[in-house]
Amino acid sequence: MREKIARFMYGRNGVDHFTRFLIYGALIFILLDVIIGGGIFYAIGLAMMIYGYFRAFSKNINKRRMENAKYYRIRSKVVGGVKNWWDRMKQSKDYCFFRCPSCKAMLRVPRGKGKIRVTCRKCGNAFEKRT
Ligand SMILES: [Zn+2]
Repeated sequence: MREKIARFMYGRNGVDHFTRFLIYGALIFILLDVIIGGGIFYAIGLAMMIYGYFRAFSKNINKRRMENAKYYRIRSKVVGGVKNWWDRMKQSKDYCFFRCPSCKAMLRVPRGKGKIRVTCRKCGNAFEKRT
């Protein structure tokens, strides 16, 4: 039996991280449907599950590898974004966060200093800001 599976999986993509994400995501959506109902979560979960299995059994390994790399890029962006947001939340009592009006870089200034002159570290643009 194990040999049969090994032969069947030969030359196929197998379970990579993106597929694992799809399968776990599918289970979460299906669970959500059990709790909330409505069918839409079940439909999303089922679609993710089918796509996950399709990827695992796919023989177009190059394309699947590219999808997996794209998944890594998006995931690191999301994880980084959430982490930055969380860091700002933790500091929001003492600091004020806003974007530079000219280059959109995230700037941090101490809170409660009244009107101060801010110079952007990235582009050198200077402007006044009430904190
Ligand atoms: Zn700037």
